[in-house]
Amino acid sequence: MKFGGTSLANAARMKNAARIIQRYSPKNKVVVVASAIGNTTDQLTEIAELAKKGDLRRARKLLSKIQLSHRKIARIVAGRGETRELVAKIEQLNSELERTVEGIGHLRELTSRSRDYLLSFGESLSAPILAATLSAIGLRAQALTGAEAGIATDDNFGEAKPLIEISYHQVQQRLDPFLNRKMIPVVTGFIAATVDGSTTTLGRGGSDYTATLLAAALEADEIWIWTDVDGLMTADPRIVKNAAVLPNISFGEALELSYFGAKMMHPRALQPAGQKKIPVRIKNSSRPSKNGTLVSANESHNGGKVVKAVSIIRDVGIVTVSGSGMMGAPGVAAKVFQTLGSNNVNVMMISQGSSEATISCVVANRDVDRAVRALQLALMGQGYVDKITEEKDACIIAVVGSGMKGTPGVAARIFTAVARRKVNIRMVAQGSSEYNVSFVVSLKDGPEAVRAIHEEFNLGR
Ligand code: ADP
Ligand code: ASP
Ligand code: MG
Repeated sequence: MKFGGTSLANAARMKNAARIIQRYSPKNKVVVVASAIGNTTDQLTEIAELAKKGDLRRARKLLSKIQLSHRKIARIVAGRGETRELVAKIEQLNSELERTVEGIGHLRELTSRSRDYLLSFGESLSAPILAATLSAIGLRAQALTGAEAGIATDDNFGEAKPLIEISYHQVQQRLDPFLNRKMIPVVTGFIAATVDGSTTTLGRGGSDYTATLLAAALEADEIWIWTDVDGLMTADPRIVKNAAVLPNISFGEALELSYFGAKMMHPRALQPAGQKKIPVRIKNSSRPSKNGTLVSANESHNGGKVVKAVSIIRDVGIVTVSGSGMMGAPGVAAKVFQTLGSNNVNVMMISQGSSEATISCVVANRDVDRAVRALQLALMGQGYVDKITEEKDACIIAVVGSGMKGTPGVAARIFTAVARRKVNIRMVAQGSSEYNVSFVVSLKDGPEAVRAIHEEFNLGR
């Protein structure tokens, strides 16, 4: 069971999470994954930026807010026996956190490695608090960091990749003894470590990934993701008022949705679950009796609807390589992707003009400048490419549903519905699988495009 930030946001939510766990344990062997409390990770990110700029005054102010709130929650949730131990643990983490911020502030240097270390405090603080909350209601629990639980990653700080073989082996070795003694491991989500012990993070939203990794390693029967909405929905409920909960969805479809920024789940989180065919339930921690969404290996039919959901990924830009010399020149596309790959630019979408004179790639906004520079160095002045252009502030709209590709006319309906709202489509790509059709519009048009599609396909009903 993984609990998201909102589900642990204050003492009352912590106790609520503990009661949910109690309902299923010790009847079942439960492993718990804790996210950082509320929006601690966002706050730590802000502190990192302030410290880097040398604005220690504001960094300290925000820091003390975090320290205070954790201290307060810890005091309320811990049972009599554990208060002292928990408070001591929190204070120890608080002062390590403080030293880290001071260090960054004095050096005015923030590497991706030190940022990961700083961000790790969110989950490092929340897991012991949740473990103590469980102890207070009579359950036996042990807080562990992701690394202590056995998750090892490479050293791609900020978006580290788990070393699957080692991790699965270690997780079994470390967690089975707790489970066999009827103890509940409470593992920090999001954070792990390299083999030599440097703290890493799995990327924003990474607690979901921690949960599915642990579950796959332990061959769990199910993964339950407790969050603040009733399940995976047909669209982001903040954009579409009548978005509906999807009762069933296949791994393939869910993967498309989460990859394309439903923001509901970490993009890679479904991989371990899908590989081991472990069903994932997404449920609302405030309304646990609701069924939520079941993600499983079954292709679901959803009343024969071809389109199931529509999602949006913000903060992307388009980089276009063009040149008349590209026509018929073999290897230009390969060179483009090789260059982007070796510069660590993740390409989210590709489209090539039928004339072969342009190749456009969608990448994260933050990667646009790096992508353009790298492509200029690698491709200009060789006779093929004469222009490399960029457009920032775009978003990808992904329309997801199995069987969409095999049904004629779906794409036409999508584009007509969007055009009717006077939204200009900047780029269309062949979906990366048979589950989606995606296209790019400007950032400001994104919500309107989502609503247009939601309405056209009657997803709210
Ligand atoms: P958690 O803290 O539990 O990990 P997140 O904030 O990461 O939760 O994700 C849940 C939020 O994702 C919801 O509150 C909702 O606003 C947003 N969201 C975006 N798209 C969707 C969608 N298609 N279905 C459900 N929620 C979505
Ligand atoms: N706390 C991390 C984040 O906010 C990880 C997570 O909550 O999944 O991104
Ligand atoms: Mg999340």
